[in-house]
Amino acid sequence: MSTQSSDEMPRPKPTNDMDNLLTYGPGTPEREQLITAIESLKGQSVEIPLVIGGKPVLTGKTIEVPAPHEHHRSLAHAHLAGAVELQQAVKVACAAQASWAAMDGRQRAAIFRKAADILAGPRRIENIAAIMMDLSKTPFEAEIDLIELVDFWRFNAYYMEYLYDQQPTQAPGEHNRFDWRPLEGFVLAVSPFNFIAIAGNLPSAPALVGNVALWKPSRSVILSNYRIMQILQEAGLPDGVINFVPFDSSHGGDILSHPSLAGLHFTGSSETLVHLWQRISSQLNRYRNFPRIVGEAGGKDFIVVHQSADPKVVVANSIRGAFEYQGQKCSAASRMYVPASLWEEIRPMMLDELPNLKIGPVDDLSVGMGALINQDAFDKVKSYIQYAKSHPEEYEILYGGKCDDTDGWFVEPTLVVTTNPKGKLMTEEIFGPVLTILVYPDDAYEGVLRLCDESTAYGLTGSIIAQDRQAIAKAEEILRFAAGNFYINDKPSGSVVGRQPFGGARRSGTNDKSGFWLNVARWMSPRTIKETLIPAQDWRRPYLG
Ligand code: NAD
Repeated sequence: MSTQSSDEMPRPKPTNDMDNLLTYGPGTPEREQLITAIESLKGQSVEIPLVIGGKPVLTGKTIEVPAPHEHHRSLAHAHLAGAVELQQAVKVACAAQASWAAMDGRQRAAIFRKAADILAGPRRIENIAAIMMDLSKTPFEAEIDLIELVDFWRFNAYYMEYLYDQQPTQAPGEHNRFDWRPLEGFVLAVSPFNFIAIAGNLPSAPALVGNVALWKPSRSVILSNYRIMQILQEAGLPDGVINFVPFDSSHGGDILSHPSLAGLHFTGSSETLVHLWQRISSQLNRYRNFPRIVGEAGGKDFIVVHQSADPKVVVANSIRGAFEYQGQKCSAASRMYVPASLWEEIRPMMLDELPNLKIGPVDDLSVGMGALINQDAFDKVKSYIQYAKSHPEEYEILYGGKCDDTDGWFVEPTLVVTTNPKGKLMTEEIFGPVLTILVYPDDAYEGVLRLCDESTAYGLTGSIIAQDRQAIAKAEEILRFAAGNFYINDKPSGSVVGRQPFGGARRSGTNDKSGFWLNVARWMSPRTIKETLIPAQDWRRPYLG
């Protein structure tokens, strides 16, 4: 049976739904529907099973899934897999692989295209409500998250077909082909809390090209992630192809040591990536294949401002970049370098604007910032603010700094000015609404670019804000390895599938560029087939006479 599409039918490139966002503005029909959907979620705590072989599995070991901005409210109680269920999931997945891998690529793609249409269409608003309540995102943040997954599914289907078209060179007397196989075994997808788009993409990108997967969602966001699993099932994903198995991290070892582990598709912190990678590399002799590791990790994302920058552009993009989704984006602006001459202008503008950024429960649709995801995140961000407060010789809190976890895990948008370019707040990933600013002498621009490049272990995202073209070119040159996603006159976040393929190097990950064919290709293991048309009949080489 054919494993891939190979006909000559025209294949239109998908367009980004990201260009057609709903606004949820006053008076729109979607706003009313959203309010109703949120109310319905608040009225219940749903039970979430594992999904193994397409069937719900209840283990009796459950955790509560609270709303971060109202943490006494349980949105769901979710069952966790133990060693027995994980072994069962691997067995079921591996049994499902033969028929799934043999299915024509167009048939597999049709399932993900259908899932995209369901999510962007009939199931959109209820899932926006779930993302808002589960992740504490505003309607805008929930909308761009949901639509990014729609784009992932459509673009990856397109990229798979593009890759299937790539074939080796031919020569007279032979015919050469690629058989674009999936990996042999199962892929473990381990997803972070902060984007359902990433979470949904981690098991789907390998599955699309014929792999089978176990999907371990983050325990903080099981409700919204489970709903994505349900959409894949509704779209016709065969049983066992993706198995939804939230598990306690202590069971990571059970699954990582399985001989059929063919790949790890991970997004999360650099520390967790190192931990998982080390576990895999310490037992390489156990595996049938060398597991593929695609790991996208943390960042310490920057904005460098040149003295030619428009101050309004700096203020708008630093506030959006640092504080949208409470700074919990891997690409959130976390350090900013500002020339002294502009700082005098920018400082009062930021102080004027920040009080307009209202914090609170995101089901109040006038709110611009919700809560941090959980108590650990709250404690961590608070500890950085405390550190700044207790080191006045190095840090001045210019705005915000208040933390309150009485009802939800709320932290104010916080502006810190520092004199130490290599201090704790300028170098470590905080993952919260804290922007640290270094003010530099105007004539030290090149030195600051070098400082920016050398200060942290990460290399994820960054931006330059300037009008002077020489300054832009210089930043592009010196910061070449400082960011895998580099922006000019923009915030360092907000990548769009296919247009700004995402990922960074250094400690930020393997830079396999999700939302592009590079990532899809990582889940394939091509077999090269050479057919000799008129085979040799004599072993002797001509030089033998
Ligand atoms: P995290 O590292 O705490 O967790 C990520 C996932 O790994 C979760 O599902 C978690 O349960 C799991 N995990 C942790 N320890 C494990 C173990 N021992 N065995 C098996 N699984 C384990 O990250 P997070 O808090 O969910 O997400 C935030 C982090 O993710 C930040 O560092 C952020 O920069 C990063 N991130 C990076 C990107 C990117 O594309 N580069 C995108 C989003 C988030």
